[in-house]
Amino acid sequence: MSKSLQAIRGMNDILPEQTPLWRYFEGTVARLLDNYGYKQIRMPIVEFTELFKRSIGEVTDIVEKEMYTFEDRNGDSLTLRPEGTAACVRAVLEHGITGGGQVQKLWYIGPMFRHERPQKGRYRQFHQIGLEVFNLDGPDIDAELIIMTWRLWGELGIRDAVKLELNSLGTSESRGHYREALVEYLSAHHDKLDEDSQRRLKTNPLRVLDTKNADTQAVLVDAPKMADYLDDESRAHFEGLKARLDAVGIPYVLNPKLVRGLDYYSKTVFEWVTDKLGAQGTVCAGGRYDGLVEQMGGKPTPGVGFAMGIERLVLMLETLEQIPQEIARQVDVYLCAFGEEAELAGLALAERVRDELPNLRLQVNAGAGSFKSQFKKADKSGALYALILGDDEMAQQVVGFKPLRGQGEQQSIAWDALAAHLATCVVQG
Ligand code: ATP
Ligand code: MG
Repeated sequence: MSKSLQAIRGMNDILPEQTPLWRYFEGTVARLLDNYGYKQIRMPIVEFTELFKRSIGEVTDIVEKEMYTFEDRNGDSLTLRPEGTAACVRAVLEHGITGGGQVQKLWYIGPMFRHERPQKGRYRQFHQIGLEVFNLDGPDIDAELIIMTWRLWGELGIRDAVKLELNSLGTSESRGHYREALVEYLSAHHDKLDEDSQRRLKTNPLRVLDTKNADTQAVLVDAPKMADYLDDESRAHFEGLKARLDAVGIPYVLNPKLVRGLDYYSKTVFEWVTDKLGAQGTVCAGGRYDGLVEQMGGKPTPGVGFAMGIERLVLMLETLEQIPQEIARQVDVYLCAFGEEAELAGLALAERVRDELPNLRLQVNAGAGSFKSQFKKADKSGALYALILGDDEMAQQVVGFKPLRGQGEQQSIAWDALAAHLATCVVQG
């Protein structure tokens, strides 16, 4: 195929054989969030570039080198959203739904775009389910977010393969004091830092903490620790969070180097990480961002949220073989009809059955074909039963009912009794 007719590098088609697992994952998350009282919000995938610069921060990887930015026909600079929080904050402000301290518990799902180096678990178009809560400032809600994800891992059967890492970044004031101490320390060891860290020391010094460079990591061993700079309020908040996780029995590891890539975090930050996916180990990440709404022009509004990467979690389900059996089968019953008269009767019969059993996955053969070829298709569809309408059946106003997966002989069922019969033998999803 010519180059122009290929998908863009790092942007994937999700093929029909993969979508059942995606839908199972997305459905499981959506049900769980419903049950905890979260409401879905849907934002555009394109926003003014300025929105991301102001919220994510000019000196972050995303804004510096990962955004898909272009000019539209009006000459406005637009950007494909690299994450969801900025647009969500823009939306709640624009519609005034967090005004007067109104609590909002929101979630969203959709594609995000970052110009990164594509590899397993890292793509240029990827998908997130994200969640944001506004106007609740206590550790109880931070805990709820983590408890929900813990339940999700349990329902998906991947709980043993993920680990919770926690840190507190304090208020912006205490973080400021810490930043000063860190800069002073790192400046004294400037020559031992890798080039990237030397640059970050000037632009975004906290990011030096999550360097992958071994020499810089060695320097960091004796660096000042954020925990020693936490103000009383942040300390109490963090203790409150840990007490709640302890109460529910959720294990965690404190990771003082966890700073997250974005500028806007404060107090709680967390990541769920796994060692099952190679280098792309973070499946869900989030934290508190009490200053963000104000920074974006709103009234001071506490906020906390997270986002999970759907590709990575689907990959986890595949890697750990946690794929529920029932999602593999797409068809319950396959109807074969031979001859034009049978085809017409079959169509009408299928619709009658659907009226009575709206959840039945009933596939009607299309494209006619011999007995042998229709039967082959019925078998290949994965259906549990074939329904057969030929001359004999038409004459007697019955349908042949044939189990395709072992178990039992073919029987004849009267048309009027078909729906009731199917109801007894097909467990409807
Ligand atoms: P990473 O450190 O892996 O680059 P990040 O800190 O940039 O992640 P966030 O912005 O916190 O990621 O996004 C939340 C989640 O979205 C990540 O934990 C990950 O599961 C997923 N994610 C982020 N970037 C990508 C990507 N390029 N491809 C696939 N999933 C991604
Ligand atoms: Mg990243």
